Amino acid sequence: MKGKLTISVDLELAWGVWDQLTLEDLRMAETAERPICAALLELFDRHSVPVTWAMVAALLDEPSAKKHPGSVSCWYAPDIVEQIVRAKTAHEIGSHGGRHLDLAAADARMAEDDLLFAEHIHRSHALPFQSLVFPRNRLGNFDAVARAGLRVYRGRDVGWTSAAHRAGRWAAKAANLADKALPIPPLSVTPQARAGLIDVPGSMLLIGRNGARRFVLPAVTRAKLSMGLRRAMKTGEVFHLWFHPSNFYYRRQEQLDTLAWFLELAAEQASHGRIEIATMGSYAPSPLSASQDGSARRPRSAAAPSATAPAA
Ligand SMILES: [Zn+2]
Repeated sequence: MKGKLTISVDLELAWGVWDQLTLEDLRMAETAERPICAALLELFDRHSVPVTWAMVAALLDEPSAKKHPGSVSCWYAPDIVEQIVRAKTAHEIGSHGGRHLDLAAADARMAEDDLLFAEHIHRSHALPFQSLVFPRNRLGNFDAVARAGLRVYRGRDVGWTSAAHRAGRWAAKAANLADKALPIPPLSVTPQARAGLIDVPGSMLLIGRNGARRFVLPAVTRAKLSMGLRRAMKTGEVFHLWFHPSNFYYRRQEQLDTLAWFLELAAEQASHGRIEIATMGSYAPSPLSASQDGSARRPRSAAAPSATAPAA
């Protein structure tokens, strides 16, 4: 089977840090997020690379935005979503929850409320709603996720750092930094059915460059990206790269150059048919394959698929 490249972008602005907000967060969300999103969209168009933009639904709900401090543009961003939808490249809009609630910590009722709010926002803007990136990558409340109609999620990154995660927060941070700073090849992943959904684990986070992380050399990041892509081509698995626009806040041009270099490499390999570029939604089981089985045909409620735009 041909290997695949999947890229997911967590679009959240200040919602990503709503419970631990600093003035610097607000300043960056207000001034840096939009130019970075525009630059990312330009790069994806230049190389015809479709990605999954997992968005916090409240970015399209002005009343939610107005309950938070700072400029409303830190919390409300219909302009960015519109640019994504209108881009030349057919991106997928996915979900990053309703209001960036930690779905692992929330009780069933809170999780359900948050996801139903997200579902409502997506439907009322005619946006797809099938791929989920759990806020803070903390997995939980799978029943509520499946009931809301989501079908695919990004699982925890694979690799040796996940063992350090179990050892505690500081071990995880140290291991994560070492992993990003050394040319250790990222692993490719295989989508798997789990809890009624499809799990597409992450392979690699394109980390930001603030604090100690500024010492991670772009050359090391490039080597890892290229090794990850090559491994997926060799194994026929998926190289799942992910990041937030905020990972471009510091050393912005250097970060954009790194991504541009990688997208050019991936587009070149794709043009030779050596890799396929696929959104998260493309791993959802096709609704057709279920209905083709005559024995499984049962009357369904009128609420069925029509509102679910197919993923890009
Ligand atoms: Zn987030």
